Amino acid sequence: MKRFIRGIGVSDINLNISAPALLWFCALYIVLVDNQYFWTALLKLVDLSTWSGVSFGLGIFAILTCIFSVIFHTFSAKIILKPMLMLMLILSASVGYFQTKYGVIVDKSMIQNVVETDYKEASELIGFSLLFHIALFGLLPALVIGLVKVRYRPFVKESLIRLLSLLVAAFLAAFLIWANYKNFVLIGREHRELRLFVNPTSPLYEAYKFTKSQYFITAKGPVQAIGLDAHQGAQYLQARAADGKKTLVVLVVGETARAKDFSLNGYARETNPELSRDNVISFNNTYSCGTSTAESVPCMFSHFDRVDYSSSDAGQYENLLDVLSHSGVNVLWRDNNSGCKGVCERTSFEDVSNLPDPKLCSTAECFDEILLHQLQEKLQETIQKNPQKNNGDIFLVLHQKGSHGPAYFKRYPEAFRRFTPECTDGAPQNCQKETLLNAYDNSILYTDHFLHQTIGFLKGVSGEYNAVMLYASDHGESLGENGLYLHGLPYALSPDEQRHVPMIAWVSNGYSASFGLDQQCLKKHYNQPYSHDNIFHSMLGLFGVQTNQYKQDHDIFRQCVTTIKSK
Ligand SMILES: [Zn+2]
Repeated sequence: MKRFIRGIGVSDINLNISAPALLWFCALYIVLVDNQYFWTALLKLVDLSTWSGVSFGLGIFAILTCIFSVIFHTFSAKIILKPMLMLMLILSASVGYFQTKYGVIVDKSMIQNVVETDYKEASELIGFSLLFHIALFGLLPALVIGLVKVRYRPFVKESLIRLLSLLVAAFLAAFLIWANYKNFVLIGREHRELRLFVNPTSPLYEAYKFTKSQYFITAKGPVQAIGLDAHQGAQYLQARAADGKKTLVVLVVGETARAKDFSLNGYARETNPELSRDNVISFNNTYSCGTSTAESVPCMFSHFDRVDYSSSDAGQYENLLDVLSHSGVNVLWRDNNSGCKGVCERTSFEDVSNLPDPKLCSTAECFDEILLHQLQEKLQETIQKNPQKNNGDIFLVLHQKGSHGPAYFKRYPEAFRRFTPECTDGAPQNCQKETLLNAYDNSILYTDHFLHQTIGFLKGVSGEYNAVMLYASDHGESLGENGLYLHGLPYALSPDEQRHVPMIAWVSNGYSASFGLDQQCLKKHYNQPYSHDNIFHSMLGLFGVQTNQYKQDHDIFRQCVTTIKSK
């Protein structure tokens, strides 16, 4: 370290400090500087005009300092003392930045998101203001730690002093918790979220939980099959044979679209000029399963309802794609996002996000219309690949890039730059709310266009297929409402913007006629409360799949099937 410091031109400095003092100082610094988000939330709940409020606030401050100090003391062996503190300072500064700038909470599912997100997406979050914040509040104090000389006493004496310092911290923390117990219980019960804001202990604990659950999943053994009894029912097959066409159901998995920005749902701005001419049904009261891609996408395909779904063991079960596959339906997942989050592990997958299409793709990414690239050929190829599948019915998932933030302005071609001026800063909090909304709404306009194009494609293949399209976004987004940005808050804490999602259906006349699906009836149910829980069962229903996993009351189409036409 010294050689490095001399190397960068700083000569020896004479600061020296004992190890316990350094540990206490770092604990104090992190509590004060990197926990602004926690303090802001806490101080809203504490009445500082009363003595008990002040003493409670001070009590929490002392408790946190003591707890951090205990943790730091535990990992303070001479060889790791400085690296450990430097790491803590940099980590806390980074977490603090995302908390205060975006209202992002680093919990287990957020960590899962970060781990599963590709570099391209993550790099959009790294901007000058993040680097500046880390440099000032993380690297600079870390450099000071690197420079100071730590005084070590002879081993036994040093160990005794450390132990004493640790015990003081532990006893003081225990005493203060005991003294403030009543307030703790009151606030702790009402505001469980506060513990998630404590930086860096909470993100570290959540990272531990994430690692453990990942390990746990592999230790649990193979994926459990579900719906092995799945088959297409006789009535469905009869109607299908009478018509002679294959069934093609397209599920468009949207990205970061919020229901309230769709003019189909009453948004004052015209963001759905194309879909509004397409005879679609917009189910305007639909809620997501999670608030992040990593949570929502597997959940949308899971046979579990949201309340029973826990991302830690959902990967242990087969999903909609597998059940459809068991029933004999062909399955294809086309992706312009960051993969299928484990959902398509046992079925066909095609990544189109890097196709060399000069019109739709840059070096970094492709616009969503790439999902339709040579699609008809691809469908035929998928069907031919599985000659054992009975009849050529096919379920196609199109996974959009949608409105993925924070660089919303990168998600649409020039022709959709209609709401201006638009925010072109990668850090949304640096933009005026209006310009941010302009960029975001332009991305919705492009999704409107993409869905219209998809419907156009389905109309084009109507001689071969009876088609249905269902579009649903994985989660919503905060665009500065209540100081929040992006998404991924724990579900219970998340605002409506992050979980109220668009869900739009289009049914071809051919499908309606063959299978007796009444579109007027569907339209009557446009504001029925739906959620991602309905997707699994609705998709099975469209293919007439019968299995013990199918719940008719979850199928949004079933209630509008009048009679099945038969010859
Ligand atoms: Zn997402």
